Amino acid sequence: MNKDLPSVTVSRLVGYLRVLTDLEGEGVVYATSERLGGAAQVSAHQVRKDLLLARVTSGTRGRGYTVAILRRELSGTLGLTRRWRVAIVGMGRLGQAIADYPHYKGFNFELVCAFDRDPHKVGKVIGGLPVHPLEQLTSRTTELALDIAFLTVPVSSAQAATDLIVAAGIRGVLNFVPTAISVPENVRVEPVDFLAGLKRLAFYLQPHDEQLAPAS
Ligand code: NAD
Repeated sequence: MNKDLPSVTVSRLVGYLRVLTDLEGEGVVYATSERLGGAAQVSAHQVRKDLLLARVTSGTRGRGYTVAILRRELSGTLGLTRRWRVAIVGMGRLGQAIADYPHYKGFNFELVCAFDRDPHKVGKVIGGLPVHPLEQLTSRTTELALDIAFLTVPVSSAQAATDLIVAAGIRGVLNFVPTAISVPENVRVEPVDFLAGLKRLAFYLQPHDEQLAPAS
């Protein structure tokens, strides 16, 4: 994959892939950049620019892109044609809700196991996943070939758990914890924070004349 792609471009490519998957499901064979852009809420020019940057080549002047081919090409560019083995670190309310979500397999993400430090959870199967003690993170990562960790521990444990994840050799962390975590350069962290989204919504929804008023 071209790791030099800007992260906003990667986000838009993920959006195009979702649109293409829907179109393919509807039996659509060709799609122009106008149609892809309309569905992904960006301009046709942006779509062409992004696909050029991603070195996608399946477009035909006039007819547009062949949906099935472009979907395959984009899946490859995004690294979604191989399987990714995922562990949940922190099997509390959120970890268990994530384990209950049934649709990872359709995207080649396989939830393999969970880790927790609570002796009441360790050794059990929760949400279909075996829960291992935190101390086994390194040995299980090797044994189970884990690639990605979902980080769902309390804020106070986030950095310590991250350090263990990194030491175990896991290179991708989906960070649900509302705090910044430090990792070495070869490890990628993607933050997921619905509270931050709510706060942005509150800003946009408040009456215009309140936006710049100091808090009382
Ligand atoms: P929780 O208290 O129910 O669960 C936390 C779990 O982590 C517990 O099982 C605990 O034993 C375990 N744990 C604690 N320290 C650990 C460590 N060092 N290693 C492994 N496991 C450890 O909490 P929750 O409600 O599931 O929330 C978990 C995290 O997710 C919190 O940081 C919360 O703020 C965050 N959160 C994020 C979002 C979001 O949108 N990103 C939404 C909800 C909650």
